[in-house]
Amino acid sequence: MPDVKTASHTVGTAEDRVDLKTMDRAALKDFVAEHGAPRYRGDQLFNWIYGKGVSDFDRMSNLPKRMRRGLQRDATVEDIEIVDQQQAADQTVKALFELPSGREAETVLIPDIDERGEARRLTVCVSSEVGCAMGCEFCATGLMGFRENLTPGAIFDQVWHMNEVAHERFGRPVTNVVFMGMGEPLLNYDAVLESIDILTDEDSLNLSAQKITVSTVGLARRIKDLADDQLRTNLAVSLHAPDNETRSDIMPVNEAEKTSLPALKEALQYYSQTTGRQITYEYCLFKGVNDSEEDARNLAEITRWAPSKVNLLMYNPVEGLHFERTSETQLDRFVQVLVQEGVTVTVRRSRGQDIDAACGQLANEEE
Ligand code: SF4
Repeated sequence: MPDVKTASHTVGTAEDRVDLKTMDRAALKDFVAEHGAPRYRGDQLFNWIYGKGVSDFDRMSNLPKRMRRGLQRDATVEDIEIVDQQQAADQTVKALFELPSGREAETVLIPDIDERGEARRLTVCVSSEVGCAMGCEFCATGLMGFRENLTPGAIFDQVWHMNEVAHERFGRPVTNVVFMGMGEPLLNYDAVLESIDILTDEDSLNLSAQKITVSTVGLARRIKDLADDQLRTNLAVSLHAPDNETRSDIMPVNEAEKTSLPALKEALQYYSQTTGRQITYEYCLFKGVNDSEEDARNLAEITRWAPSKVNLLMYNPVEGLHFERTSETQLDRFVQVLVQEGVTVTVRRSRGQDIDAACGQLANEEE
């Protein structure tokens, strides 16, 4: 097989071989077809890579020997591996993955344990980038700045390996995936959508799209793209402030007109009308910043833009940042106002705080 260069897929390791983990099923079929093999060979490759976790072409026994030789010469399957793992007191597991570039990404497995001590839900919080360019003032990842986009395969691998951890530690597979780790998923749009296609493929992990949530800082144009591309997963928007001024103070992305609250409103209404899906607003309470009763009333107004619900989060302090956690009393008042306004609201308690695995705390220590 000669070298392949396509616009949408990264080419080249050190030896200029194409990494098949940058491809989903459709791209693998295109890849083999471009090299004169029947398209069903792409399905076979898919099954080996994403169904069986095999990256050694020699083990792909149903591929012809000549094709395997060609793949060895011109392609690689770049796996990512867990290099460190920590478990919190509440059984949340944080894993550090080494990427082919040598950089590291963090992933969290969050068990929802019932009264009998069994995990009824196992959620993997995946990273879509190393670092993040969005620079939210309260976020440890934002402090790092942007480093690297993850490939579809690297996003998939986080879930694959955490699925193994889930079996080892809790005796059952991963049930949910949230794109709430490092990075802004909609800035790595194609790779995130391709990874979702892989994760939900019945020959791979066969996860339900309804059990996957993509969480965005609120990039209006990309939210419209999601609607047009008929995203089948849940959409969460990190709102964190109920008015333009406060939001711009803590989330620089809001300063630009095309990503400000009015633009977000228009995009979310388009998304809602196009998909018929409910939107989840993530709202982290910061003491004295966005936790007043007036803020709650303004937030209630926003929930009327389109069918939606609110997840309230308690802030997990990050070293070097000046934000503080809201008191339980203020939280209660805030919830009360929302309930009076008819808003569906859930309070999400932080998990894995003692290992810095909670929301907003992900950042490689060495970074
Ligand atoms: S909160 Fe999300 S979007 Fe904002 S800096 Fe952190 S990772 Fe990026």
